[in-house]
Amino acid sequence: MMASDRTAAPASSGSAPVASSAGVGGSVGQTRPQQVAVLGSTGSIGCSTLEVIAASAGRFAAWLLCGHRSVGPLLEQARIHRPRWLVVTDAAAAATIGAGALPAGTKLAVGPDRLADLVTAPEVDRVVSAIVGAAGLQSTWAAVAAGKTVALANKETLVMAGPLVMQRAAQTGGSILPVDSEHSAIHQALRSGQRQEVQRVVLTASGGPFRTWSQDRLATVTPAEALNHPTWSMGPKITIDSATMMNKALELIEARWLFDLPAEQLDVVVHPQSIVHSLVEYVDGSVIAQLGPPDMKLPIQYALAYPERYAGPARRFDFGATHQLEFEPPDLERFPAVRLGHEAAARGGTSGAVLNAANEEVVQAFLAGRLPFPQIARLCERAVTEHPFEPEPTLEDILRLDAWARKEVRTWMC
Ligand code: NDP
Ligand code: MG
Repeated sequence: MMASDRTAAPASSGSAPVASSAGVGGSVGQTRPQQVAVLGSTGSIGCSTLEVIAASAGRFAAWLLCGHRSVGPLLEQARIHRPRWLVVTDAAAAATIGAGALPAGTKLAVGPDRLADLVTAPEVDRVVSAIVGAAGLQSTWAAVAAGKTVALANKETLVMAGPLVMQRAAQTGGSILPVDSEHSAIHQALRSGQRQEVQRVVLTASGGPFRTWSQDRLATVTPAEALNHPTWSMGPKITIDSATMMNKALELIEARWLFDLPAEQLDVVVHPQSIVHSLVEYVDGSVIAQLGPPDMKLPIQYALAYPERYAGPARRFDFGATHQLEFEPPDLERFPAVRLGHEAAARGGTSGAVLNAANEEVVQAFLAGRLPFPQIARLCERAVTEHPFEPEPTLEDILRLDAWARKEVRTWMC
């Protein structure tokens, strides 16, 4: 089922090409800008994407912007970027938009179904999938099913339904380019050799704010402490995932499907400085890494412009300064989520969807002050262990088990 021709492997890796359309990156001299649909434009990745578009010297233009409830910031983005479509997925939030609030030439659409429809429009050249959580699956699936090139930040799509999504992309000619910095690094490092020459792929992890905390101290973690990430500025959900290292679990599963790599070839190393974004080790022992300051504008631009590169707004590595790069193995006792990620990547089927759904529920409970920090990984493990496993699920199976996991976990937290 895991044919390499539906992976996002770079063209030089021996697999089929990723970004299929000609002139993908666009260039200043081309006739029209590449039209981009930005899903989750009001979020951290969405705002960085708009910075990349604004600094692209006309290579890219925002054709569609989409937010959920942040209507004020969304309207401000519309005034600056003048998209054809503004989509608000939350109907109640959309109802607060008064007549005359939209800039001339921008139309309003409401709800996730309208979004899923609009991303398939022929005008759309690239879709940036940056909605947070399982809510991102529907529109990402629609884009892939329509054969679009998707710059994927919403890792949850692949965690939940990786095999189905990659298979659909292969059928439609769609492609997925990673925005996640680790996967962007891997994508770049894979351009150094042939697929059969890869020994293993190592994802770096900052280790989060509690990297050095003892097990006892981890039991005292507050939401405010967990929201204070040492190196990356991100939305709240992924920030908590980084603190538990569940983010690395989700990324292991994401890498497993995106690059069609067996779980045994995937590893995690803790690298507190977040300068090396991931590494590929080849059979001869050579290790190829991608480096840069922690700034998501670079992987976003890479995914938008691939296979081209141009001077963009991302921060530069400062070779005039002294840097220390440390690497250490993850502590699976204190951060059991990493082990869960390895297991779910190896087992496949519905493991990823259940892990993701359980995690979304418990993270919300933790942020609301209703769950101690160490319980996040424990309840996720319980959900994965107890769920009625399906080895080759349909999309319906996945959504059913997503709902099952959320309901179960909620009863356990009562
Ligand atoms: P944010 O929380 O900052 O933004 C989330 C976005 O999703 C907002 O635009 C929000 O709209 C929208 N949204 C929330 N709920 C829904 C919903 N039910 N339906 C439709 N849209 C919704 O998240 P991030 O930008 O940090 O993360 C986005 C995705 O990118 C996640 O999957 C994350 O894992 C991934 N990612 C993020 C990285 C980062 O550096 N931030 C790095 C790598 C991956 P509104 O604001 O209107 O509520
Ligand atoms: Mg990442």
